[in-house]
Amino acid sequence: MTTQLQLENLIDIEEQYQVATYKKFPFVIERGDDVWVYTSEGERYLDLYGGHAVVSTGHSHPRIVKAITDQAQRLIFYSNLVYNDARARAAKKLVETAPELLSKAFFVNSGTEANENAMKIARMLTGRQKIISFEGGFHGRTPGSVSATGLAKYRENVSPLLEGHVYAEFGNIDSVNSLLDDDTAAIILEPIQSMGGVRMAGAQFYKSLRERCDDIGAMLIYDEVQTGMGRTGEFYFAGRFDVVPDMIALAKGIASGVPMGAVLMTDAIAGEMKPGDLGTTFGGGPLACAALEATVDVIRDEGLLENVRENSDYLFAELRKMLLVEEVRGLGYLVGIKFRDGTAKSVQQGLLEKKIITGLSEDPDVLRLLPPLTLRRPEIDLFLDGLSGIS
Ligand code: PLP
Repeated sequence: MTTQLQLENLIDIEEQYQVATYKKFPFVIERGDDVWVYTSEGERYLDLYGGHAVVSTGHSHPRIVKAITDQAQRLIFYSNLVYNDARARAAKKLVETAPELLSKAFFVNSGTEANENAMKIARMLTGRQKIISFEGGFHGRTPGSVSATGLAKYRENVSPLLEGHVYAEFGNIDSVNSLLDDDTAAIILEPIQSMGGVRMAGAQFYKSLRERCDDIGAMLIYDEVQTGMGRTGEFYFAGRFDVVPDMIALAKGIASGVPMGAVLMTDAIAGEMKPGDLGTTFGGGPLACAALEATVDVIRDEGLLENVRENSDYLFAELRKMLLVEEVRGLGYLVGIKFRDGTAKSVQQGLLEKKIITGLSEDPDVLRLLPPLTLRRPEIDLFLDGLSGIS
């Protein structure tokens, strides 16, 4: 166990040497096990934030650890200039999780990189400029993704933004229609806006987006960086309401915490790509691919999609009985809890005192849960008990 003196040192050292762009919880997490994390002082926290929706299979799942360890001993990295067994298996496994139409993967390293590439592909293949995204959406921090981010706060002081980005009202097809024209390359959206307060639209909205994109020859891109890899109780939001986008951007949970992203795309799109059109040094590195393969295996073998569906039904139903809760939003283990009077931050603090980690959103009324897909009923009950003790 780290002593108090060392603890202060660690926090001080991080404050001194790391650029202070994050407001951090005042503890040092040293170790994780499934839905639990342990601090340097030996305290145990229930992690309903999942390291920001990343730790899909739980912290340090033994099969992920073994896959990474075995791969590291054989080959940590080689680029896309050679074929590699881990990459071959990971690409096949990933594509097999996706709706049938999305039959090819391009590997990258992060969510923003996945979105940048998806938008670049749409512009390249259509020869058009305009990208429609949505108010309240978040797509990342690099120039293209931040330009597509509808949450205005993230675009402040980032100028010049990329040209050609316009923002429609989420859930309102008339607003989309007013922007859509024959210069539109793509519509990009988080099918459930997570950072924006866990907002989902009605089924018809997604269907209409598909229809309108087909009418005008634009591409539909789902940013499933958060909703992908099982979080909604299915591998993807894509396919829901029979809507399959042309591309899905993935990252966060796809390799259980090893940095990795991917763009899933149709055969038709992939067929237009030539050597040199896309690239990234680390994308599809063997270590990340081994982690991705093991992640898919664990999700399937441990029935984690079923687990998410069953237990989120229970979680949603119990939350809706609580007086302090005005509304419960989201799907599966992407949960937004709206409180009556802007108290999400104080509820988060109250839960933290009970050793439960949760997340906030850009909506001050909404607390977010993004737990590992392994979260089960006993820990949900612990959370519900904790929450009912806060008023
Ligand atoms: N898209 C969505 C929906 C996200 O939630 C995030 C990150 O929070 C991103 C894109 C950007 O991902 P990354 O931070 O890996 O670049």
